[in-house]
Amino acid sequence: MDLRRQRRGIIFILSAPSGAGKTTISRAALERIEGLEPSVSVTTRVPREGEIDGVDYHFVSDAEFTRLLAADQFAESAVVFNARYGTLREPVERAIEQGRDILLDIDIQGARQLRPRYRADAVMIFVLPPSFAELEERLRRRGTEEEGEIARRLRRAHDEAIAYPEYDYLIINADIMQSLDQLRAIVEAERLKVARLTKDFVPWKP
Ligand code: 5GP
Repeated sequence: MDLRRQRRGIIFILSAPSGAGKTTISRAALERIEGLEPSVSVTTRVPREGEIDGVDYHFVSDAEFTRLLAADQFAESAVVFNARYGTLREPVERAIEQGRDILLDIDIQGARQLRPRYRADAVMIFVLPPSFAELEERLRRRGTEEEGEIARRLRRAHDEAIAYPEYDYLIINADIMQSLDQLRAIVEAERLKVARLTKDFVPWKP
């Protein structure tokens, strides 16, 4: 008898103030940590160059977003930088049922909604840069925003950073490979928890 895959799937939630390097960590994790699948969010924001509908996001109109919300299709939803974002309920619940692990790159408002909803099946990980100066530099280096927008994002980043105590794990992202190793350690340990075993799990018999 094979004892593998007799557990519920895990919802790994990754949040960070913008500029902490969350996108880089989440991309690297999906490439390098075996068995971790992306969650494709729904958004009303316009696609950026190179983004693919159905892969990076499901890009929808405001009316369509409102319809999905009214039909209770979202596990969580939030407004971030003037656009609406939401995680569809069905794929998340299917993953938990089927013992597949997914990685959600979502903001703090969304994470706060998922926590009470999925409790033991959700693992919340927060990423911070090593210092506020580092965060400011990363935001500026990105070079896509003007000064007023940078100041606004910095204020917001500071407000977000203080939310870390609501999370289960904190990764200080000084080095991407080290952060990835830490994330892998979290994923592997969480996968081994006895509490995740399905009710019909029985150890092998002689
Ligand atoms: P971006 O538009 O740059 O891809 O994402 C902007 C912010 O929205 C990021 O902080 C990202 O984590 C967050 N975000 C992306 N998808 C979702 C989602 O489905 N729900 C929530 N609450 N936030 C999301």
